Amino acid sequence: MEKAFYRDTWAEIDLDAIFYNVQSMKQHVGSHVEVIAVVKANAYGHGDIQVAKTALEAGATRLAVAFLDEALALRKKGIPLDVPILVLGATNPQYAPLAAKENISLTVYQSQWVEEALAYAYERPLMIHIKCDTGMGRLGVKTKEEIERIVALMSQQTDFVLEGVYTHFATADERKTDYFEFQYDAFMRMLKWLPVTPPVIHCANSAAGLRYPNRVFNAVRLGISMYGLSPSQEMKPLLPYPLKEAFSLHSRLTHVKKVKRGEKISYGATYEAETDEWIGTVPIGYADGWLRRMQHFSVLVDGKRVPIVGRVCMDQMMIRLPYELPVGTKVTLIGEQQGARISIDDVASHLNTINYEIPCTISYRVPRIFLKNKSIIEVRNAVL
Ligand SMILES: *Cc1c(COP(=O)(O)O)cnc(C)c1O
Repeated sequence: MEKAFYRDTWAEIDLDAIFYNVQSMKQHVGSHVEVIAVVKANAYGHGDIQVAKTALEAGATRLAVAFLDEALALRKKGIPLDVPILVLGATNPQYAPLAAKENISLTVYQSQWVEEALAYAYERPLMIHIKCDTGMGRLGVKTKEEIERIVALMSQQTDFVLEGVYTHFATADERKTDYFEFQYDAFMRMLKWLPVTPPVIHCANSAAGLRYPNRVFNAVRLGISMYGLSPSQEMKPLLPYPLKEAFSLHSRLTHVKKVKRGEKISYGATYEAETDEWIGTVPIGYADGWLRRMQHFSVLVDGKRVPIVGRVCMDQMMIRLPYELPVGTKVTLIGEQQGARISIDDVASHLNTINYEIPCTISYRVPRIFLKNKSIIEVRNAVL
């Protein structure tokens, strides 16, 4: 029988954890607030369609992605037309009719964009969210005149619908709240500039939703905490409910050998065995997003933390085993093994970066196995 993948390295995505994290946010903010599940970048590396479906089952009512392509991919993979998908990034106005046709809401932050979009014909209404820049400095309208110009231009085309207005916080995950308050005040001021109030008003990412459930207007854009990760280290003690990490990464020993004291391991021959040692080869490398900088970190094997030795290669790396173990022994790079655990935060801290970067970096070459109720419901392998 044809298998979904043949290599001994895979990621497991716990969809029950995703379900729980979405449901928890929904309860936290209350039933009058919509949850917009942010599934950009292949759902932060987890797998867009499975995460999107699970989030919708758990009570999310909308999806958000970064680019039009990601929204179109979700439609192709089966997200029905009645589930609105918001593109958070910039979209070239020439593709506005396509977005409208697929019920994909676009972000608008410049009157010039609306002027250009007016030149095309529309088969269906185009849903628009105006983005306000309150201090993030990325995308957004800043002045009253520009907001009024956008709304006036929109009124020239009956197929343009102002569905939403939003902003994005730069520091909602930090202990200090003054810049958050500054941006919040700016957003309140800008909302008053709108001649009409759109149905969906949203400002909160995970951090703001977790911390200020009563100040999110009527929708939360739920990203990192849907995946069970804290928006920052500072926020860990402030979490209103425990999060469940959904992503884990595993492999198997493909070669086990005893090396003698003084023998060298991997490119550059930088590692030298200090005594006679058992060395295992693991089929994962930097082409999988398991970066060269993971050297000197550790993995779990037989429930123990063991070191990565020598340089990480493109497709393989070596680890020092505590004793002889058979080929085929499971190696856990992220996740739990016999009560021992390596979290995404541990990996992020070794790489001196944020947890967001870790599952996003694990490349599409690594197959994703989706688990529900501890059983495999689907496997996605972008290679085969
Ligand atoms: C990615 C993104 C989010 C999600 O943020 P998290 O911190 O992951 O919850 C929300 N809004 C915008 C505009 C984004 O780009």
